[in-house]
Amino acid sequence: MNARNVPDTIPISALNTLEYCPRRFYYQFVQSDMVINEFVLEGTLLHRRVNQAGTQTVGQDVMQTTRLYLFSEELRLSGFTDVIEEQRGLLIPVEYKHGQQGEWLNDALQLCAQALCLEERLPGKPPIPYGYIFYAGSRRRVQVDFSAELRAKTRAAIELAFQVAALEKPPLPLEPPLTARCPNCSLVSLCLPDEVKLLRSRKEKALANTLPD
Ligand code: SF4
Repeated sequence: MNARNVPDTIPISALNTLEYCPRRFYYQFVQSDMVINEFVLEGTLLHRRVNQAGTQTVGQDVMQTTRLYLFSEELRLSGFTDVIEEQRGLLIPVEYKHGQQGEWLNDALQLCAQALCLEERLPGKPPIPYGYIFYAGSRRRVQVDFSAELRAKTRAAIELAFQVAALEKPPLPLEPPLTARCPNCSLVSLCLPDEVKLLRSRKEKALANTLPD
């Protein structure tokens, strides 16, 4: 596998994509390919509402800061949060998503990466225990605990992100059972997962036929 230049930093939001599918991450982050479908548009419109930077009081002793820029030298991550809530000295990241909670870990990883970046800026403070994801489709606010396991998976995803970003070519399409993610992927028409697999299997068969018995 050939390697290309490794980027200095990875966008925090790209970790969400990576966890969903490394090939999709490569298309979006490395090649800057994007297909706007209704899901992408819905997500963009939702984020416009929380993409105005500022701080406001939203309840008793609760302050909200929107669109805070985060950077981690240690993890080599950068990006913006949707909202940081401050309650009794505790900072809680809140991420807004369109649709409903999925079965995958991608949203939780993105939120946990925000917490890791915040913690790096707050040396000596206790670790951030949890954050929230607000799903607009179900209008549910889901608490995500930043457990040791989730923190380890987030760090592993960051490592993988740099490895995939250094590849010369996109990784192969997902294999079952993860192919269940493909029908909802906005890049399916670009990725052509079934066609790529068919071509690969034909090539492998042709190669096998040329080998001596
Ligand atoms: S169609 Fe499937 S394999 Fe291709 S980028 Fe999307 S999720 Fe990944």
